Amino acid sequence: METKNAERYTAVLIGCAIGDTLGMPVEAWKKEQIRKYAGRITKPIDAVVITDSNGNLVMQDEFGKLKYYNKGLKAGQQTDDTILTMALADSIAEKQGIDLEDIAKKQLREYEIRIQPDGKVLGGFGGTTRDAFKNLQKGISPLKSGVIGGPGNAPAMKMSPLGLYMHATGNYEEGLKAAEAIGRITHLDPRSVASGIVQAHCVYALLKGVSRDDFVGSFVEVCRKREAFPAKEFSLSNEGTLLERLKWIQGNMDAEPEAAFQKLGSSSLVYSSYPFALFMFQKYWDKPIEGLLETVNYGGDCDTTGAMYGALAGAKNGMIFPEEWAKVIDGLKRIKSTAKKISKIGGN
Ligand SMILES: [Mg+2]
Repeated sequence: METKNAERYTAVLIGCAIGDTLGMPVEAWKKEQIRKYAGRITKPIDAVVITDSNGNLVMQDEFGKLKYYNKGLKAGQQTDDTILTMALADSIAEKQGIDLEDIAKKQLREYEIRIQPDGKVLGGFGGTTRDAFKNLQKGISPLKSGVIGGPGNAPAMKMSPLGLYMHATGNYEEGLKAAEAIGRITHLDPRSVASGIVQAHCVYALLKGVSRDDFVGSFVEVCRKREAFPAKEFSLSNEGTLLERLKWIQGNMDAEPEAAFQKLGSSSLVYSSYPFALFMFQKYWDKPIEGLLETVNYGGDCDTTGAMYGALAGAKNGMIFPEEWAKVIDGLKRIKSTAKKISKIGGN
């Protein structure tokens, strides 16, 4: 079992990294902008940079703003999604369990080593995460460091290693509680927190071989039980719950991707990008790579939709990713050794 689990766990972490690096070059671009400047993302490529005839960055076009969060990154390099996922995975591997202080310490370290002399931080960390990390830097406990933000999708994007832990140990309930605590290191919005819990559950359920219907039904149920309703003090509380969007998926499993995109969007708001990634994953249940590329090419927070989708695809299918994608992944050796260590937890 150990080798088999190690391979499957590797696929989850590589899937996250692959999805991340596929979206990285065009993070936050609209799908029309991807089409115009990159054609179609079909493999890992360098960050795309558009300059005018004077060599200046084009910051705006007829579709809106053009962002360059990852300027200078090369094909196979990753952003905050994989950076924070691997910090969590390394902590679980090293401690052979869940240690909130250590998780916070390792995640903060990944942030600190990317702070530039001018104060900017490489990696595309979101505002809520940065504010919470500043609290950790002040010595505030990870139980109190989280802030009300966005509400962003960071808990979901970094939570896949928890699913590995739950699968390795069978400690499902403990795992969901840990997912909540880990999400709250940075994010207090109940929708953000719930997204991390749901993603941990999803990875676990897929490793267990759940059917498509049960997969969708189960993530709705987990969200129903674990998401507190966002009170008025939370930003965009009028936009409603994550549960509402997950229930939409359940009622529209076979909808066209464009209809799901129109309904959900793919922005970094947690009730947009996370349900969109889940919708696309279940829609392309038997065509995971096609679905991953389709998801990324919808743009928006596409490194993150890619990372969340990629982790799920690895959990369900193992190493289905094209060899030429996997071999350029930065940090491949670390991913493999970490996955192996996690597979040994619980005496496996
Ligand atoms: Mg990112």
